[in-house]
Amino acid sequence: MDDGVILAADDLTKEFKGFFAVEGVSLKIKRGQIHALIGPNGAGKTTCFNLLTKFLPPTRGRIIYKGQDITAMSPADIARLGLVRSFQISAVFPHLTALENVRIALQRQRGDSFDFWRSQKVLLQFDERARALLAEVGLSEFEQTEAGDLPYGRKRALEIATTLALDPEMLLLDEPMAGMGHEDVDRIAALIRRISADRTILMVEHNLSVVASLSDTITVLARGKVLAEGDYASVSKDPRVIEAYIGA
Ligand code: ADP
Repeated sequence: MDDGVILAADDLTKEFKGFFAVEGVSLKIKRGQIHALIGPNGAGKTTCFNLLTKFLPPTRGRIIYKGQDITAMSPADIARLGLVRSFQISAVFPHLTALENVRIALQRQRGDSFDFWRSQKVLLQFDERARALLAEVGLSEFEQTEAGDLPYGRKRALEIATTLALDPEMLLLDEPMAGMGHEDVDRIAALIRRISADRTILMVEHNLSVVASLSDTITVLARGKVLAEGDYASVSKDPRVIEAYIGA
């Protein structure tokens, strides 16, 4: 019954005290694609993202991942199924090196209880995989740099490496380009393209030129509902989309 859809939302709705931040949103994310969720401020993107990553319970609707209803599952349980949300930089330990951060993420992935100081030896066994992940995100030369000393864009790359340590089949990225200058944007865009070669990606992103260059499919939200869906060429020409952005 695999129709190429890895993640589907059906009638996803979130009400906050009578206000519908997300209402009746249905989405289908195809396996292997980069799918972007865009829309003007207040459109419901963050709420939708938090519903899909299980950080908020929906008022109504269902979320299906690889044919399995995950609506009632915890973020940790869905991460074990391979659906992983990238964590913000605050999840990276600033006083540990880039290598140590990835090692810890690998240890967590194995389900070991987290006790950094007692488990240095155990962590060493993850060295090879940790180095490979740092290389994948272009951080080999920063292995021994403390995470807190990394430039902003490199920190985001480290955050992505710790997420990849969970071995995701699908990654959910919350504004991966937020707060970045041109050079970092280009570097992270190239990284997202690279990691998408064997993973599905859903991202909320404000930077429309990045969305245009990376996304296979774009869903435009406005006032909590799906306004349009398609590739960039089609949604960017859609008069309803233009109006939603101008009117925002
Ligand atoms: P976006 O990410 O597209 O800017 P959000 O999902 O953050 O949009 O917000 C959509 C709407 O829902 C906004 O009007 C916002 O004020 C409202 N909203 C979001 N979270 C809450 C909340 N916890 N309580 C009440 N209203 C909320």
